[in-house]
Amino acid sequence: MNMITNHLPTAELQALDAAHHMHPFTAGGELAAKGARVITRARGVTLTDSDGNEILDAMAGLWCVNIGYGRDELAEVAARQMRELPYYNTFFQTTHVPAIALAERLAALAPGDLNHVFFAGSGSEANDTNIRMVRTYWAMKGQPERNVIISRKNAYHGSSVGSGSLGGMAGMHAQGGMPIPGIHHINQPDWWSEGGDMEREAFGLARAQELEAAIKEIGPDKVAAFIGEPVQGAGGVIVPPDSYWPEIQRICDKYCILLIADEVICGFGRTGNWFGSQTVGIKPHIMTIAKGLSSGYQPIGGSIVCDELANVIGQGEFNHGYTYSGHPVASAVALENLRIIEEEGIVDHVRDVAAPYVAEKWQSLTDHPMVGEARIVGLMGSIALTPNKETRAKFASDAGTVGYICRERCFANNLIMRHVGDRMIIAPPLVIKPEEIDTLIARARLSLDEAFERVRKEGLWQEA
Ligand SMILES: *Cc1c(COP(=O)(O)O)cnc(C)c1O
Repeated sequence: MNMITNHLPTAELQALDAAHHMHPFTAGGELAAKGARVITRARGVTLTDSDGNEILDAMAGLWCVNIGYGRDELAEVAARQMRELPYYNTFFQTTHVPAIALAERLAALAPGDLNHVFFAGSGSEANDTNIRMVRTYWAMKGQPERNVIISRKNAYHGSSVGSGSLGGMAGMHAQGGMPIPGIHHINQPDWWSEGGDMEREAFGLARAQELEAAIKEIGPDKVAAFIGEPVQGAGGVIVPPDSYWPEIQRICDKYCILLIADEVICGFGRTGNWFGSQTVGIKPHIMTIAKGLSSGYQPIGGSIVCDELANVIGQGEFNHGYTYSGHPVASAVALENLRIIEEEGIVDHVRDVAAPYVAEKWQSLTDHPMVGEARIVGLMGSIALTPNKETRAKFASDAGTVGYICRERCFANNLIMRHVGDRMIIAPPLVIKPEEIDTLIARARLSLDEAFERVRKEGLWQEA
């Protein structure tokens, strides 16, 4: 048997990694010089690296390990399924039990008439499905010119050509010929960075009304759909003002625009409800799912689709699908993950225990000299670093310089907290316990103090 073991010293693993492994969203040369951190195992909310450090993972991997690491039940289900039926496809009028069971379960969990699931291997693939599905829907309704999809700047919807185009990440669009035609981006509801002198709720309303302006400009008969994350994740955990989503819903209804909620992060308990759409009070026609669907134990994603869309699409042949759509092992693992979330009351734990407990402590970080605002919904939170809280000023240094310093201090203090520009973000496993939240906050504070010292020492305590 080919055993993948950790028998090599860290430096050797790092050298092999640098020689042969290209990392996503990474400056390869810089990492090769420094050496990647090698993670060897994990339990609960804690990672262990190849040097034996125990690290609190306040990002749940990449926002996905909702039930925490090390759940044997998922390993057992995977092994059992691999023995019984490791693979079969769902093309050509066939199906299998894990895909049937998971689709049925998701239809029951999803609100309203979101009763149909198109499976994919990831969130990116699912959003590619969505692009083709909404355009095909309107074409089948006799309105093929309705093909523009409106999204937002600084949104994240994946990294394939289609989903990366839906997203609004400038750095991604600058490489490899994105965005594809037919995607229009409006501004995001980021009050802290872009709100200027406006009051927060008025700003939220104004940003939502950019959707109506865009629809009028493009032509209401040309717009197929609007897509948004209920709470933007990779963009920096941007919590929209309360005024934002109700206005988006009103505008979508008024112009019969399909609403796609990208629930890849917000879904499966992250915001204190099963879905972020429930937290922000919207009724999407499609929900994109991935990440927490399997708690990251297997790669799987999908689109949960409403009756009307599924019925219309089903009238013809939808020439689309992936080899691993509804993969039996991934489906079985996802199903077991959902059972655990449900039977262990993990969504209730987020809403009633973890979120209220962390919210207060997260807010208390604003007494730190470098922390402007602190926002958190359920278990996804962010703090804005600023040299001037009153004016919400940016640092004079390039965006992300101070954030990176802070992230390095977190790493050094055995806390995984990410930075997006000069915002620090967390999204810990949903099973995090109050005492682990205390550790998280204590390490965050220590890291902020150390980062503050370095920022001043290096002459970076400067307003733009
Ligand atoms: C991560 C993410 C995706 C992409 O999912 P992948 O599985 O990485 O392809 C899409 N949308 C959102 C909101 C995400 O956070």
